[in-house]
Amino acid sequence: MKEIAEKLIKWYEENQRQLPWRKEPTPYHVWISEIMLQQTRIEAVKKHYETFMKELPTIESLAKVDEEKLLKLWEGLGYYSRARNLKKAAILVQEKYEGKMPSSYSELLQLPGIGEYTAGAIASICFQEQVPAIDGNVLRVVARLTANSQDILLPQVKKQITNQVKQILPKQAGKFNQAIMELGETICIPKGNINCNECPIREYCKAYSKQLTSQIPVRNPKVKKKTEEKTVCLLYYQNQIAIRKRKEKGLLQQMYEFPNIPKLESMSSIEEQIQNWGLQLQSIQEIGKVSHIFTHRIWNMDCYIAKVKSKNTEFIWVEEQELMQKYALPTVFSKILQRKEETKLCDIQKI
Ligand code: SF4
Repeated sequence: MKEIAEKLIKWYEENQRQLPWRKEPTPYHVWISEIMLQQTRIEAVKKHYETFMKELPTIESLAKVDEEKLLKLWEGLGYYSRARNLKKAAILVQEKYEGKMPSSYSELLQLPGIGEYTAGAIASICFQEQVPAIDGNVLRVVARLTANSQDILLPQVKKQITNQVKQILPKQAGKFNQAIMELGETICIPKGNINCNECPIREYCKAYSKQLTSQIPVRNPKVKKKTEEKTVCLLYYQNQIAIRKRKEKGLLQQMYEFPNIPKLESMSSIEEQIQNWGLQLQSIQEIGKVSHIFTHRIWNMDCYIAKVKSKNTEFIWVEEQELMQKYALPTVFSKILQRKEETKLCDIQKI
C-alpha cells in the first residue's frame, strides 16, 4: 500500500501537467480552480480562470464584487450557484477569518459551496493536512485498483473507497491527492483508451490483472432526463434586442434570457404571443431548432427572430454588444445567438 502512494507521487512529480492554478497554489487559487473544475472541462476552466483572477485577484475583491459582474465572469461555466456560493464564502472569510482562508478541513467544510472534496483538496494541498480528496477520478482509479464492481455512485461505496484511500494516504497527502486525480484525468480515464501501459501502479491493479478495466467502474443508469419543448424569440427593436431576468429560484436563477414560452405550434399563435407582450410585430422568421442538455433536463427550442415596431417595459432592451459585455447570458441562450449568425440573419434589416 505504501508503495502505491510512493510510486504515484514520483510519477506525478515527473509528469504533472502545467496548469495555471498550479503556478502558485495559494488557498484562494486552489479554491477557485477546484470549484470551477467541478462539472466543467479543464480546457474551458483554463480560459475562465485567468480572466477571473485578473478581475478578482483576492478574496477581498471576490467578497466585494457586484453579482452581475460575477455572473458575467462565470458565463459559459454553468452551474451558476457555484459562483454565488463563492461570493458568500468570501464574505464569510472576510468577516470571520480576517480575510484569510481557514486552514483546517473542518472549518473549510463550513463555508458555502465547499463540500468534502474541495475541503480535502484545499486542506491537503495548501495546509498539508492529512485528509483525502475524493472526486470522480479517485473513485474510478480506486475501484479499478481493487476491482470493486459495486456502483461507485452509491454513498456506501464512496464511503468504502474513502476509507481505503485513508489507509494509504501518506504524509504528503496534498501531493498524493493531486497525483491520483491526475492519473484519473490523464491515464486511467473513464472510457475508451485507458492507457494502462503508462500507468505507474499497474502492477497493483486488480482490474488490470483480471482484464476488467473496461467493466469497472460500474455506474447504474441515471434517471431519464425530462424534456421540455419551448419557443424562443429574439425580438429586435431597431438595433436593440429584448432580454429579461429569470426568476429568483430554480434553473438558471437570476440569469438573463431571451423571451420564451412553452412551445407554440403555429406562427399565428407566436404572433399573438408577441402582441400579448405589448409589442407590435413588423416581421418574423424562423431560425431553426436548438437543443441544450442540463443535468436533469433537456430543452428543445424552436427559435424565431422578429422585428418589432415598439418596445415594452417588461423586457430590457440592449444592443448586442452591450449584452455580450455586461449581461450574464447562459450558454443555452448564447447558442441561439450563434444559430442566428449561422443562418446569416445577423443583419436584422433583412428580415
Ligand atoms: S492499470 Fe489501468 S486500470 Fe489499473 S489503475 Fe492503472 S490505468 Fe487504471
